[in-house]
Amino acid sequence: MDYKLWINGEWAASKGGRMMDVINPANGEKIASVVDASVADVDRAVQAAKTAFYDGRWSKLTPSARSLALLKLAVLLEKNTAELAKTESLNTGKPYEFVSVGADFPFMIDNVRFFAAAARDVHGSHAGEFMPGFTSMFRREPVGVVGQIAPWNYPLMMAIWKLGPALAAGCTVVLKPAPATPLTALMLGELLAEAGIPAGVVNVVSGGNETGQALVEHPDVRMVSLTGSTGTGKKVMKTAAETLKRVHLELGGKAPILVFDDANIDLVVEKVVLGATFNTGQDCTAATRVYAQGKQYEKAKEALTAAMKAVKVGDPFESGVTVGPLISAAQRERVIGFVDRAKKNGATVLTGGGIPGGMDKGYYFEPTVLCDVDQKAEIIQSEVFGPVITIQPFKKDEEAVEYGNDVAYGLAASLFTKDVGRAMRAAAALEFGTVWVNDHIPLTSETPHGGFKQSGFGKDLSAEAMGDYQITKHVMISHAS
Ligand code: NAD
Repeated sequence: MDYKLWINGEWAASKGGRMMDVINPANGEKIASVVDASVADVDRAVQAAKTAFYDGRWSKLTPSARSLALLKLAVLLEKNTAELAKTESLNTGKPYEFVSVGADFPFMIDNVRFFAAAARDVHGSHAGEFMPGFTSMFRREPVGVVGQIAPWNYPLMMAIWKLGPALAAGCTVVLKPAPATPLTALMLGELLAEAGIPAGVVNVVSGGNETGQALVEHPDVRMVSLTGSTGTGKKVMKTAAETLKRVHLELGGKAPILVFDDANIDLVVEKVVLGATFNTGQDCTAATRVYAQGKQYEKAKEALTAAMKAVKVGDPFESGVTVGPLISAAQRERVIGFVDRAKKNGATVLTGGGIPGGMDKGYYFEPTVLCDVDQKAEIIQSEVFGPVITIQPFKKDEEAVEYGNDVAYGLAASLFTKDVGRAMRAAAALEFGTVWVNDHIPLTSETPHGGFKQSGFGKDLSAEAMGDYQITKHVMISHAS
């Protein structure tokens, strides 16, 4: 199937953009073609969003009317889950069960409902007398036209994480999905229209990095929200500086897991294996670096190796499969490169490290465990984005925190202990946007998600995310007239 662009509430033919193939990573076959949108296409989409913003068809609706449309969207996502989830599985290689009922859809539908409620939640200091004879009012206004750029690892869910708070705040949007996974974001256009979200409020332009660049450069875009790699975040921030746009950056991660000497090792194994293989390890919060104290080191090595070996890798539409392929041949080459270089630098492969036997069609990779790695090694310092974990020993509690913090990233971390004091001390000292105690990976719509350090800034999820799409205006009223 060939897709057009979704601009101003209808399918629009490209002006000058070429077509790009969309591939099924489970077998390498083409499943659709989409437009690689041109600069002129981006401009048309931005103009549609600009008109929709300034004529107030969305921003001047009452919060209750915006909320109602978002609630309708949640119902439509629920009704269309089977078709959308099938497309998402075909396009990403994620297990269908996992997308449809396990994680993506239930969570994104809950996100939409949360932001429908957040749109109506007015709180905080809004008016007062701060100088004799004057009343001051603080208005929380939508930022304006927002450019939203999504990654390939959770295509529709990342789009929803971005659209929910922006729409709740009253912004209008040009959304650019990742070039590898544009289908469900494009399919969302018609559902937005059916939900009663007016034409032009959300425009979807498929395309590659240059399309994204054109969106960031556009002078009528007031804010850019990117979920992507740290390298892309740096480029976007530099480009946005030219027009002094706000930037909201959800970037890469390299989550440590601190296993203290009193930790329940069975619980560690259950949570780390899920955290490392969830979405084939292509998750910015994926469990990647295990640090185990004293005698726990040998126990963790043995138990994690056995559990990672037992993970079922296979066809995304086969029941019980928890790990599908990586997103592309290039991504698999990248993961293989990291593991090979780690081996050359002395790492021992406890399990995995290659392509599973008999699975050369599609971009599959074995769940992998490495040990004998140096803290400064590339495999510890860089984001691999595949089902690969490392295990290192530590002696003192402070050492674990030091190792955990010793990377450029700061998105998510976890620690395992039965000692509340120890958990609180470590949680306070870890420089990460999320710290789990005795778990790894769960998130909720109410809780903020975002980075420290080079994992970026700005929050997805929670009321804080909606605040990121608002700007405060002070109106000062003299009592004299
Ligand atoms: P990527 O950085 O390659 O691309 C992300 C998006 O940015 C794509 O849509 C791409 O076309 C666009 N882009 C690339 N260059 C651009 C430029 N110069 N200007 C504007 N847009 C540009 O990332 P990816 O490979 O699609 O996704 C994986 C990355 O995303 C990982 O690093 C992962 O950790 C991160 N991620 C972070 C979070 C989070 O919440 N922090 C969530 C999911 C993924």
